[in-house]
Amino acid sequence: MKSSTPKRFLPFCLALALAACTTHPYTSTNRAYKKKAKAYAKTLRQTPVANPGEDSLQQGDYWVGTTNFNMRKPNYVVIHHTAQNSTEQTLKTFTTPRTQVSAHYVIGRDGKVYHMLSDFLRAWHGGTGKWGNNTDLNSSSIGIELDNNGYEPFAEAQITSLLQVLALLKKTHGIPAANFIGHSDIAPSRKVDPNPTFPWKRLADAGFGTWYDEEAVRNTVFAPTIPLFQDSAAVTADSAAVPVTVLVPTTTVAVDTIPTSFQPKDALRIIGYDVKNLEAAIKAFKLHFIQKEVNGILTDDDKKVLYHLYKKSLE
Ligand SMILES: [Zn+2]
Repeated sequence: MKSSTPKRFLPFCLALALAACTTHPYTSTNRAYKKKAKAYAKTLRQTPVANPGEDSLQQGDYWVGTTNFNMRKPNYVVIHHTAQNSTEQTLKTFTTPRTQVSAHYVIGRDGKVYHMLSDFLRAWHGGTGKWGNNTDLNSSSIGIELDNNGYEPFAEAQITSLLQVLALLKKTHGIPAANFIGHSDIAPSRKVDPNPTFPWKRLADAGFGTWYDEEAVRNTVFAPTIPLFQDSAAVTADSAAVPVTVLVPTTTVAVDTIPTSFQPKDALRIIGYDVKNLEAAIKAFKLHFIQKEVNGILTDDDKKVLYHLYKKSLE
């Protein structure tokens, strides 16, 4: 029997395919992506060479490849704002080689998600940064850029999409809750994104990032500073006659006391901040966890928040 292919439709289909190709604004950069991915795949397929003669290692007599491995996985998520005016502008920036910047995901104000790079490949979003002892966040993280000019609040549709992406990433790669952080957290001296309107608490409530127990912070006091030596001259005979008033609280509130030995700098460092520039580290901490009066000064209330986050990071 003759083939039933409706040949008269073929030119129409071809024309349609051609139109789709020519109207896609990123056809050529997508081609560049595929070419680059192919080159890296070639590297992956190469087998380690025994006795390469280029090092002083005492290599074995032959190559033995293990049968047990998979791809390396990201273990952090770094959130950014684009500081640009539109998603289109950011897509252009990330497909222009001379900019040397990129991210795995770009999320628009309308909630549209552009997955620009495989999670297993290294995007260039973190730059010079440090979190704990990790100095190469690009190698270990997924970068997410939120379309935002840097000053405006984040759109609801955008946050809804972000939460969906985060849930997928957490499930797929097993990323710990504490490892969802902001660009300013890893680069305090250079970066201020995402901006102070970013809903970090909402994210933490959903399991992405850490937050503090607000009631515990309210019920926290500083331990009084006790002088090592009392000035004996100040103790007069009359002082013994002063009646002592003992204040008994009417309701029992569990009060957390910050010891006098508490050092904010150490707490920031243990949480993960690079404290080489302490003022910048405090600023980054306030941008993430206080979100008002973002400056390099820790108030008593800020110290209480810091103390609770520090205790949490020791758990
Ligand atoms: Zn950034």
